[in-house]
Amino acid sequence: MENCIFCSIISGDIPAEILYSDEKVLAFRDVDAQAPEHFLVIPKEHIATANDATDESIMGRLMITASNVAKELGFAEQGYRLVMNCNSDGGQTVSHIHLHCLGGRQMTWPPG
Ligand code: AMP
Repeated sequence: MENCIFCSIISGDIPAEILYSDEKVLAFRDVDAQAPEHFLVIPKEHIATANDATDESIMGRLMITASNVAKELGFAEQGYRLVMNCNSDGGQTVSHIHLHCLGGRQMTWPPG
């Protein structure tokens, strides 16, 4: 989709530190890491928000990919947090769904 920063990362027009890619999903490091480990997993199909998601298999794939990449990076056993923000109250700033995976430090609850 035009003017979507994550679609531009998928097409290669904007560089990113890619951690995993297949025909359905892409994982790359967050440019503004909020933890020692922070990457995003996105579908290659443009889906704006969690409210627009209808395909259970792609939503599951985001989760499984995040845990696989966390294992690859070596922090899965210690643990991590998976977060998907939705719209303004959720704090979503990029309108292409993305699963955050944060790790490498103790998380707190409740989140801000
Ligand atoms: P959210 O606020 O949940 O929509 O998260 C958007 C995330 O995308 C933020 O954590 C940003 O730091 C991250 N982000 C924005 N632009 C880029 C980029 N070009 N490469 C990597 N991460 C990005």
